Amino acid sequence: MLFAYRRNYFGQRKRCLCGKPYLRTHEICSHLPYPVWLSRAEREEKATMFIHLNLADSKVTDLDYLLNKGRLKEATKVLTAISIKLRELYCQEKLVLIESGLDLK
Ligand SMILES: [Zn+2]
Repeated sequence: MLFAYRRNYFGQRKRCLCGKPYLRTHEICSHLPYPVWLSRAEREEKATMFIHLNLADSKVTDLDYLLNKGRLKEATKVLTAISIKLRELYCQEKLVLIESGLDLK
């Protein structure tokens, strides 16, 4: 899961409750759970860590910071929570399609 996130495969082809497709950086959407927040000091450290990139433009996330710091347990906690939510939504959508007879599989 952590590798999938780094390689931009995590949540691929899943849709968020807000209706947008799930993409990297979408994890901060208010419709998704986000159990780990960075402190002010950590956010400052993150900015320094990625100073070579234009943070406003880049796809660097708090999760990248956690991964770079080796805080894998916390990163896993975040991605697991998001993954469960995305799967729930995916199953609900699938069920609606099956019930409406639109599912062709
Ligand atoms: Zn969303």
